[in-house]
Amino acid sequence: MIKQHGKIQMVDLNSQHKKLEDGIMGAIRHVIERSDFIKGKDVAEFEQNLAAYLHVDHVIGCANGTDALQIALMALDLQPGDEVIVPAFTYVATAEVIALLGLVPVMVDVEEETFNISLQGIRNAITSRTRVIIPVHLFGQCSDMEPIMELANEHKLWIIEDNAQSLGASYIFRNGSVKNAGTIGHIGCTSFFPTKNLGCMGDGGALTTNDPGLAEKIRMIANHGQQVKYYHKLVGCNSRLDTIQAAILNVKLPHLDGYIESRQKVADFYQEKLKDFACGVLPTNLRQTPPAYNQFTLKIKNGLRDQFRNYLSGMGIPTMIYYPLPLYKQEAFSKFAPDGFSLPVTEKLCGSVISLPIHTEMNGEELAYIAGTILNFKE
Ligand SMILES: *Cc1c(COP(=O)(O)O)cnc(C)c1O
Repeated sequence: MIKQHGKIQMVDLNSQHKKLEDGIMGAIRHVIERSDFIKGKDVAEFEQNLAAYLHVDHVIGCANGTDALQIALMALDLQPGDEVIVPAFTYVATAEVIALLGLVPVMVDVEEETFNISLQGIRNAITSRTRVIIPVHLFGQCSDMEPIMELANEHKLWIIEDNAQSLGASYIFRNGSVKNAGTIGHIGCTSFFPTKNLGCMGDGGALTTNDPGLAEKIRMIANHGQQVKYYHKLVGCNSRLDTIQAAILNVKLPHLDGYIESRQKVADFYQEKLKDFACGVLPTNLRQTPPAYNQFTLKIKNGLRDQFRNYLSGMGIPTMIYYPLPLYKQEAFSKFAPDGFSLPVTEKLCGSVISLPIHTEMNGEELAYIAGTILNFKE
């Protein structure tokens, strides 16, 4: 039945973009007419639009989310051997840029309920060489930033938020004030990879900050360390947001709240329909971290995850495992982890998580089929 209407997909970018086709095509055509492909009008406009959306002073576009993290670290005057604390349960990009710059990734455990970095883990990992903490707001939920900021202030550490998966999520402080994910630490980094909450049609990324000095430096670093053309103050890189991508993002940004709402509806549906699912644990949201679901991730009990995944696959339901292997078990990062290094929650999650289809174009029929199929799973 469901298959007559097309396959169920993890994401459906095609349908999302069809609805904006005229606007997107028009925006691309305008860029081609102006031919301001590099640092064009749409880039500056998008930076302003996103800054207004996030209530942050500065947004600097760059080529992708990984570059955003690299540029953020480059802006902090770190020395080789300086330590950067990261969660071990994350996408590789977070740790990759640390290693690439000759810094040392120090991997810490995450919280089982939220998948986000553990405060106690950070506390235990701080040494005299620690300079930076990179909380990753995984799957659409902001890390518990207030105590992390307090700890960072106490130890005079920088905070870079990896907000690639949580653009549009927010955080509520104890006094009731609210900030957007990515605007709480010293620098926020995000990605416009097509499947993120705000996706472009290729690669794209941005940095956010309220510090004018850092903003200026970030802008220089992303453009060969120059402010005045051919006068290079800093060693930088070539990492710019393409004008065509910025033009597309300008068309899509006004729909971001709607996209987040659609994802929230899918999550609400799963939460309601799957609440009695005996083989799995549903994701938890802390009161202070209203999410912008990029993924809906279950934890499957008793080593049944792979069996569950095969069952769903056989029923035409795709799933993904984010992430199957802790950072410290990745061959590329073995030199940063002593033999036998292990973090219990990260280990457990890598063996039990599974992410269900969640995107802006899901219909009720698909959702009902997915939930019904899941509830029929038998060991
Ligand atoms: C996607 C992602 C990145 C990298 O973004 P790209 O634009 O693909 O380079 C970094 N960190 C996390 C947690 C991500 O999910």
